[in-house]
Amino acid sequence: MKFGGTSMAGTERIRRVAGIVKRQQEAGHEVAVVVSAMAGETDRLVNFCREANALYDRAEYDVVVAAGEQITSGLLALHLQALGCKARSWLGWQLPVRTDDAHAAARIEDITSDALLASMAAGEIAVIPGFQGLDPDGRVTTLGRGGSDTSAVAVAAAVQADRCDIYTDVDGVYTTDPRIVAKARKLKYVTYEEMLELASVGSKVLQTRSVSLAMKEGVRVQVLSSFIDESAPPADSIPGTMIVSDEELAKILEGTDMERQLITGIAADKNEAKVTLTRVADRPGAVAAIFGPLAEANINVDMIIQNIAKDKGETDVTFTCPQADLARTQALLEERKEQIGYYRMIADSKVAKVSVVGVGMRSHAGVAATMFKALADRGINIQAISTSEIKVSVLIDSDEVELAVRVLHTAYELDAA
Ligand code: ADP
Ligand code: ASP
Ligand code: MG
Repeated sequence: MKFGGTSMAGTERIRRVAGIVKRQQEAGHEVAVVVSAMAGETDRLVNFCREANALYDRAEYDVVVAAGEQITSGLLALHLQALGCKARSWLGWQLPVRTDDAHAAARIEDITSDALLASMAAGEIAVIPGFQGLDPDGRVTTLGRGGSDTSAVAVAAAVQADRCDIYTDVDGVYTTDPRIVAKARKLKYVTYEEMLELASVGSKVLQTRSVSLAMKEGVRVQVLSSFIDESAPPADSIPGTMIVSDEELAKILEGTDMERQLITGIAADKNEAKVTLTRVADRPGAVAAIFGPLAEANINVDMIIQNIAKDKGETDVTFTCPQADLARTQALLEERKEQIGYYRMIADSKVAKVSVVGVGMRSHAGVAATMFKALADRGINIQAISTSEIKVSVLIDSDEVELAVRVLHTAYELDAA
C-alpha cells in the first residue's frame, strides 16, 4: 500500500490511513506500507536548498529532502501502534534500498527484503518512507519528485506482493487531470504502455519510473482513493483503476460492449523550459557539443528542434528541459559558449507541453491533424512538436494550457456525458 502526500497531511489523515492499513491486515493480508512526506513538505524543503544556493550540491539536497518521508513513516508506525497493530518503520538506509549515485534523480538497483519479509511474516506492519535510498558510497539519495510511487512498486516487486495499491487524492486514473477538466472520465483499466507514456508527458498521478518498473517486474498496480469511509471494504473490492497489460485488456474487453478509445488520455506539463541557442555552427559535432554535457549532468532534454541552415552555415537549436534543471543547463552552456560556438542563449519558462496518448494511434491516421486543427481553431500557437508511436506532444504558451487540454478533450470525444 502506498499513501501520497495529501493522504499523509496531518494527524487526522495519518490516523485515517492507519485505519485503512489495519483493515487490510484484518482482511488477512501481510502489509508493507510506503509513505510520502506531508503535502507541501518536500516543496518547502527544496526551497530551503534553493535559498542556500541556486546551484546546490545534490548530495546535500538529498539529505534535506529525504527528511519529509522519515517523519511520516515514523508517525504512521506510531498511529498503527495506537490502533493496537504491531508496526515499525524501515528507513531507506536500513533496509537498504540500494540506488545508483545520481543524486536527486537516483534509480533503485536493489532492495534487500529478508528482514522485511521476516518481520511481515511475524505480523508486523512494515512502514517504509518512499523517495529515499542509499548510494554505493553510503550516502542518502532521493528518487526524483513523485518518487514514492517508484519506491512502492520496487518494494512490491522485492516482496513479490500480490498487488501494489497506490492510494492518492483522486479515485483512479482519468482521461485527463480531473482537477483541470471537470468532464474527465475515470478509466477502469489503463495499459502499462499508455500509463508509461501518460506519466512521462506529465500525468503526475504516477511517477514515470514506477510504471516502467511495474511493467518490467510484472507488478499489479491499482490506483485508488485514500479518502474513503472508515467502514469502507478492503481494497480488493474498491473500484480504482487497474494498470494491465495489453493482452489482459484485450481479454477483458472481449465479450463486453466497451470499446477502446482512439485516445486514452491527455496530459499537460508546466514544468518544462525552452532554451534556444542562436547561430550555432552548422557542422558535424555541434549538437553533440550541446547535448553531451547535459546528458552527463543527468539533465533530460525532451523536444529538440534544429532549423535548416541558411546560406551562412549557421542554425538555431531549440530544446526543452525540466524547469528545475534550467539554471544548471544555462550554466553548463554558458561555460561552453566558445566551444559550442553560438551567438545568444534565450530561455523561456512560460511554456507548457500538452500531449495526447493512445495505442489506437498506431492504426489510425489523422490524430495529429485533429490536434493541430482543434488548437488552431482556438488561436493557440504551437511552438514545437514531438511524436512517438502512441503520442503527439505540442509546446504552447503556459497561459493557454488549461484551455488547450479542455479543447482537446472535447475534440477526441473524451468528455463524460
Ligand atoms: P500523491 O501525493 O498521492 O502522490 P499526486 O499529487 O502526486 O498524489 O498525484 C495525484 C494527482 O494527479 C491528482 O490530484 C490529479 O490532480 C493529478 N492527475 C494528473 N493527471 C491525472 C489523471 N490523468 N488522472 C488522475 N489524476 C491525475
Ligand atoms: N515527497 C516526494 C515529492 O513530493 C516524493 C513523493 O511524494 O512521491 O516529490
Ligand atoms: Mg505523487
